[in-house]
Amino acid sequence: TEVLELADVVKSYPGHPPVHALAGVSLTVHEGELVGIVGPSGSGKSTLLHIIGTLDRPSSGVVTIGGHVVSTMSDRRLSAARSSLIGFVFQQFHLIPSMTALDNVATGLLYTGANLTERRFKAFEALQRVGLAHRLTHLPSELSGGERQRVAIARALVNKPAIILADEPTGNLDTHTGEQIMGLFHDLNAQGATILVITHDRELAEGLPRQVHIRDGRLESDSAATVAA
Ligand code: ADP
Ligand code: ADP
Repeated sequence: TEVLELADVVKSYPGHPPVHALAGVSLTVHEGELVGIVGPSGSGKSTLLHIIGTLDRPSSGVVTIGGHVVSTMSDRRLSAARSSLIGFVFQQFHLIPSMTALDNVATGLLYTGANLTERRFKAFEALQRVGLAHRLTHLPSELSGGERQRVAIARALVNKPAIILADEPTGNLDTHTGEQIMGLFHDLNAQGATILVITHDRELAEGLPRQVHIRDGRLESDSAATVAA
């Protein structure tokens, strides 16, 4: 099943001359894939992150996630649907400092209509999946960097999104902890999660089953193309 499809996606920023941050990107990701999207600074990674994450719209082209055409979906419908489409993981974790690990994860269910008891139970299950069932009542300041990122990953997956979208997820971690986080992505992927890791770090991406390279707003290579074509 196709989980993500980008069809000739262009994103231009006005200027003299205009900048084509994405100059016609087509990409298909299937359910259960673990993909690295790799490119140097300025290649269009952030732009792609915002467009796949439904935080921004393409200038032209079509984006489909989980069977929904999101590139033309209204802001209202997107706000309601986003957490079931995409789970975000960021370099800087973006946890709420005053909330426990459990409640940080439960925020991933705020717009689902689930009540607090349900949200906390699902948050507990998600923290179990990332190996943090013993850290439920800790605040982010009481957790290590790797643990904070695990909480963020639990928050990303708690609503069972079509895709987990991770932006430089190891960029704020030491090498060993970064490897553990990548190991967790492999485990979650083995359990069925579809995961996209966006990074400038070629070495990090080399451990992933599929690597897509972008440069100057275009796909430069796709390791799946040689296998699947
Ligand atoms: P990356 O994340 O790989 O560094 P970006 O997606 O941030 O790449 O940027 C791709 C290109 O688009 C760069 O040339 C950048 O300067 C340009 N760009 C990004 N955002 C804007 C913007 N809001 N206005 C104008 N140009 C932008
Ligand atoms: P950095 O790469 O400096 O760590 P972040 O990972 O914090 O940057 O954020 C990457 C991009 O995602 C930024 O452009 C930011 O505006 C956006 N972003 C960060 N946090 C959120 C959020 N909670 N919801 C939506 N977008 C976010």
